[in-house]
Amino acid sequence: MPLDTEPTDIDTPDTTSDLPTPLKAARKHCLDCCRGSAQEVRLCTARECPLYLYRHGRRPTAEEIAAVAHVPLFPEERPISAAEFHANGGTALKAIRRRCLDCSGYSQQEVQDCWAKPGERNACDLYPYRLGKNPNRAGKGGNPAALEALRRYREQQRGSA
Ligand code: SF4
Ligand code: SF4
Repeated sequence: MPLDTEPTDIDTPDTTSDLPTPLKAARKHCLDCCRGSAQEVRLCTARECPLYLYRHGRRPTAEEIAAVAHVPLFPEERPISAAEFHANGGTALKAIRRRCLDCSGYSQQEVQDCWAKPGERNACDLYPYRLGKNPNRAGKGGNPAALEALRRYREQQRGSA
């Protein structure tokens, strides 16, 4: 599966699903990474981590992106600057995908076979999104009207950013 191919990333809540949005999952993962300390998440210095700009559980501001614009994001096997990532439509879902590939030694098979499923002792909050797909949107991506609505929503979001 291509690394950055995901047309259906959107972080609006889906009331039909119990899953957190990709943004919320990223936030939970960062808290887990920092042993539950919001202060440590705030102070995180791992700017290469794909989740860095999403660690607060919201979309990054233009200023935040600019501050790390030239930082190459993991995985090292396929670096991309933070500026390029966002200029090319970077999203929390795509950041999670990169994070999972980095976690798995850049092996798509390892990501696929990840053992950190919900219910496991060491379950990972990113698990539902590890393949770069949003289960909250399953079945919604092939609908032309839905895609058009998604495109308009994104344009509005960019316009209001
Ligand atoms: S941005 Fe990466 S290194 Fe920093 S808290 Fe989140 S997961 Fe951990
Ligand atoms: S979902 Fe699996 S591959 Fe992704 S970060 Fe978590 S443990 Fe690693």
